[in-house]
Amino acid sequence: MRAQPKASHFINGAYVEDAAGDVIECIFPATGEVVAKLHSATPAIIEQALESAKAGQKIWAAMSGTERGRVLRKAAFIIEERNRDLSILETLDTGKPLSETLYVDATSGREALEYFGGLAGSLTGEHISLGQDWVYTVREPLGICVGIGAWNYPTQIACWKGAPALACGNAMIFKPSETTPLCALQVAEILHEAGVPAGVYNVIQGYGDVGAALVSDARVDKVSLTGSVPTGRKVYAAAAEGMKHVTMELGGKSPLIIFDDADLDNAVGGAILGNFYSSGQVCSNGTRVFVQKGIKEAFLARLKERTEQATMGDPLDEATNFGPMVSANQMNIVLGYIDKGIAEGARLITGGKMAQRDGFFIEPTIFADVTDDMTIAREEIFGPVLSVLDFDTEDEVMARANDTEFGLAAGVFTSDLTRAHRVAAGFEAGTCYINTYNDAPVEAPFGGSKASGVGRENSKEAINHYSQVKSVYVRMGDVEAPF
Ligand code: NAD
Repeated sequence: MRAQPKASHFINGAYVEDAAGDVIECIFPATGEVVAKLHSATPAIIEQALESAKAGQKIWAAMSGTERGRVLRKAAFIIEERNRDLSILETLDTGKPLSETLYVDATSGREALEYFGGLAGSLTGEHISLGQDWVYTVREPLGICVGIGAWNYPTQIACWKGAPALACGNAMIFKPSETTPLCALQVAEILHEAGVPAGVYNVIQGYGDVGAALVSDARVDKVSLTGSVPTGRKVYAAAAEGMKHVTMELGGKSPLIIFDDADLDNAVGGAILGNFYSSGQVCSNGTRVFVQKGIKEAFLARLKERTEQATMGDPLDEATNFGPMVSANQMNIVLGYIDKGIAEGARLITGGKMAQRDGFFIEPTIFADVTDDMTIAREEIFGPVLSVLDFDTEDEVMARANDTEFGLAAGVFTSDLTRAHRVAAGFEAGTCYINTYNDAPVEAPFGGSKASGVGRENSKEAINHYSQVKSVYVRMGDVEAPF
């Protein structure tokens, strides 16, 4: 098998196997070929991971922030050196084209390790003067953090959760999605090669039940999930039972508004980036594209022309820029939504079918004349299906854009400066874009509002979600007691 790891799990600084666990097949989505077979964690494996994390965290937290940061930056350097191999593995795991993975996945993981490695030495508390008495605060790690990943960005998610957690002095147990189990093991191996003590970053495989067992364990202090809203509700509720800290990075149905004064080609480019990158399997995608009526037909014509230039093919060929769905299951879900779009009266502009080739490919698909009540305008599809809706006025489109349970992202294209900021201010979403779409630099907070999530990843904000503040009151004079 082409991508078989040394063993299924990475615990206490070493690969570990327990063949008693359910089999997890890792399938290359471009061919359907099984590239690796792993095992889901048994209770014994979960126990090993928790105990090693408990011991490792104490050693790690006793090191200075500068020392921890040096190790994280060294891991970033190793990732950079191995970018091509890691990118090929990401492509085998997810099916995303190498033309993307070479520039986005290990690269984004490396940047998170660099950024939080840089911050680790500067995490401090504060001094609060109270006359002659005073309070000082100490920023402390939470303890054991559990990271649970989705399948669309396995390396990035493993690093976006691991880097801030480790910078703050926590240990992490990361459970990748059962659909993409391979990449996080490489992250664990590299972190240990860079000098992270055994037990500080563990990876265990499994389906939802393994995630649930971790979330409900009393030794776990924090849970960070990237996944769908229904899973988020379950995990958040289970974490609340144990009063644990949470970060929830969930789904979306984000609006992208294009006013008739926008630069047409930039707006089309934004819609393509916000719908077809990673074959549409991106949580923040702007899948409801609201186009002002005056430019609707010109926009559709240009969008169709450019979309039909996508090069679908073997994701390992760098000339390919459009890959398959991650799995047969995801392909069937997306095809079901396309059928619904047609049945509910949306106008199919291009695509709409499986590609005539092996693997789980769906053509990039555009619908026009989509209305707010159609299923394809309300539910997250998580595939290459772009819906164009039209509008007349700013007030009208803002009300419609915000009329959703989700609040992950939102974007606007316009050349009117004041309107751009007014629209951004009015969006009910955690991550907004003006004249661009789907950028996610590590320096900026990323996350959702409403049903799309709780907490933020990346940036200095993430530090608040992986640490807690202790206040220490210091009295300089005598204690005055009533008796
Ligand atoms: P999913 O919700 O099916 O699974 C996510 C993870 O949760 C998997 O690892 C799964 O094994 C685990 N899980 C399932 N049930 C669990 C339980 N009861 N307890 C603990 N863990 C459990 O999501 P998916 O299909 O892997 O990913 C797609 C979804 O993720 C989409 O909705 C997408 O929008 C979202 N997503 C969000 C972001 C973000 O940053 N906001 C990023 C990527 C993906």
